[in-house]
Amino acid sequence: MGRKEKDAERLERKQQKLEASPISAKYPDVSSVVISMNYYQRNSTLVFMQRTVNFFPGSPAYFLMECVKHDCMGGGFDLDPVVTGMMKDHLESGKGELVCPGNNASGHARVDYTISIQYTK
Ligand SMILES: [Zn+2]
Repeated sequence: MGRKEKDAERLERKQQKLEASPISAKYPDVSSVVISMNYYQRNSTLVFMQRTVNFFPGSPAYFLMECVKHDCMGGGFDLDPVVTGMMKDHLESGKGELVCPGNNASGHARVDYTISIQYTK
């Protein structure tokens, strides 16, 4: 795996994000989505990094969170099924854990996340 492949992946994902429909188009009654994540490295129980991402009706409905490992290929934390499932069921909060599937699932990173969704009605 080289830098070129990583750059290609980054570009491809950037494109996917650009092409994603806005949240308002798919889920018009959603007024905001907040995703908070704690990142962990390998088997460590220490929080390596914390991140909170806010989405608004105009934000692309794209919920793949990148892995923090710089040479990770095919990885990231795909919260799309979780978030869209919550929207369908009108759930306001959810949480869980994901392991990065990148670099042939070497288990180099994981996150635990909480998701809050607000609705206009
Ligand atoms: Zn990764």
